[in-house]
Amino acid sequence: MADCIFCRIAAGEIPAQVVGRTAEVVAFRDLNPQAPVHVLVIPVRHHAAARDATGPEGERLLGRLVAFATDVAAQLGLDAGGYRLVTNTGKDGGQSVDHLHLHLLGGRALGWPPG
Ligand code: 5GP
Ligand code: ZN
Repeated sequence: MADCIFCRIAAGEIPAQVVGRTAEVVAFRDLNPQAPVHVLVIPVRHHAAARDATGPEGERLLGRLVAFATDVAAQLGLDAGGYRLVTNTGKDGGQSVDHLHLHLLGGRALGWPPG
């Protein structure tokens, strides 16, 4: 989608600190980090949110996103301390960018429950 900021990051049209990518998935540092490590993991192909990645193809993509996020977490040294993977969905979920993304947060002890 031309007017989607994460589509444009995936296409390389907007700069980002990319920490990993495959043909299907891109991981880059959040512009406004909430933890020492805060990486966003997105599909190259536009889906508005996790609930929109449906059917066998959508399920496969969601699996790849999580698997890629765990690889990035390991590469960034988070395995020993642990980390959080979360995907905000819709208004009550606090989603502000309508392109499916996982937040990978780590590098400090994270509170629970979230606000
Ligand atoms: P959400 O609130 O939708 O769950 O998360 C969107 C995230 O995208 C926020 O944490 C925000 O800081 C991040 N973000 C928004 N615009 C940009 C951008 O242009 N570049 C990067 N790297 N992160 C962005
Ligand atoms: Zn998009």
